[in-house]
Amino acid sequence: MNIHEYQAKALFSQFGVPVPAGVPAKSPDEFAAALAQLPEGPVMVKSQIHAGGRGKGTFTDGFQGGVKFCKTKADAAELAAKMLGNTLVTAQTGPAGRKVQTIYFTAASDIAKEYYLAILLDRASSRPVIVASTEGGVEIEKVAHETPEKITKVFVDPAYGLADFQVRELIAALGLSGTEAKNAAKLLKALYTCFWETDASMVEVNPLITTPTGEVLALDAKVSFDSNALYRHPELVALRDLNEEDPKEIEASKHDLAYIALDGNIACLVNGAGLAMSTMDIIKHYGGNPANFLDVGGGASKDKVVAAFKIILGDANVRGILVNIFGGIMDCNVIAEGIVEAVREVGLTLPLVVRLEGNNAAQGKATLATSGLALTPADSMADSAQKIVALVA
Ligand code: GDP
Ligand code: MG
Repeated sequence: MNIHEYQAKALFSQFGVPVPAGVPAKSPDEFAAALAQLPEGPVMVKSQIHAGGRGKGTFTDGFQGGVKFCKTKADAAELAAKMLGNTLVTAQTGPAGRKVQTIYFTAASDIAKEYYLAILLDRASSRPVIVASTEGGVEIEKVAHETPEKITKVFVDPAYGLADFQVRELIAALGLSGTEAKNAAKLLKALYTCFWETDASMVEVNPLITTPTGEVLALDAKVSFDSNALYRHPELVALRDLNEEDPKEIEASKHDLAYIALDGNIACLVNGAGLAMSTMDIIKHYGGNPANFLDVGGGASKDKVVAAFKIILGDANVRGILVNIFGGIMDCNVIAEGIVEAVREVGLTLPLVVRLEGNNAAQGKATLATSGLALTPADSMADSAQKIVALVA
């Protein structure tokens, strides 16, 4: 689960990570009151969407920049009115962009230098890794590609936590000394505690800045939480913004379906994450592109299958459907009945290939065969993938 910058910075503050003063506003009526809470002086106007690259983004009406520096509060209110309700396209949003529904006003900071800092989970070592670089404010992927020596990684032993020698190593890598070093050390420890205590999968600060007076501040903040740990953080779940999520994924989560929308046009309905992944692989192998990852789970009910089918059919990109079920616990006939009922309710004009294998497969195939549905039965993984790819082509 992702949250907005303004929420991430509020969280940072709770853990003692210094951030510039800021106030969010969700409608133009709130602009004046929000701006009144900030100290006199220049203000940043920041579009709140769950994507980075906002500063260099463009709104669909041609307005440039989702993050703007303003000399006065009056200018800030004027620019905020142009951003709010407008759709911002950045390198991370895809061409459709995201509608800005919240503006965050912050006191503008004087920047001495921009740095990059992130904490995430390193899968290879199964440990948190702190990634730091003197090249802040720019795309870290580019730095990693072109000048990897400018990125320092420190792996943290989760049982011990962030050690002082590691903090010193990071500070040395960033070239900080004196007051800046002291402030950065405090910030690093606070940020690690925030990452750890919230079960975050990532906290990213780009840029982390030093000011001319030696302060160290998180100027931007991106935080993602591990969804599997959210049950123990109701206060974080409350930060969820459904406006930022794919409606199909929200619907799927209501039915406890593991669903992730993808860019392709072949929808998959599969039981088991491993089978779902190999189904996507084999579709790719035969030249097709999956429209989603969808795992209905081991013991799905008929209702769940109906819900899954409706979600798939609600995706305008879908040109064909592949149902690939290996019945272990799953009764293949439950899937078959779910398909028949869903098609009765919502209709089906797309090619549908169904492979049922395992528990009660013969009954499932019989249910489909006698349903009158125009579908293409298939026998193996390869057979089913080849058939759906051919039908969609
Ligand atoms: P992003 O474009 O989505 O990554 O949004 P950021 O919050 O990182 O802002 C983009 C850029 O705007 C930053 O890299 C900074 O260069 C600049 N910026 C953001 N806040 C301030 C500020 O308080 N003062 C100044 N001078 N520049 C800022
Ligand atoms: Mg940024």
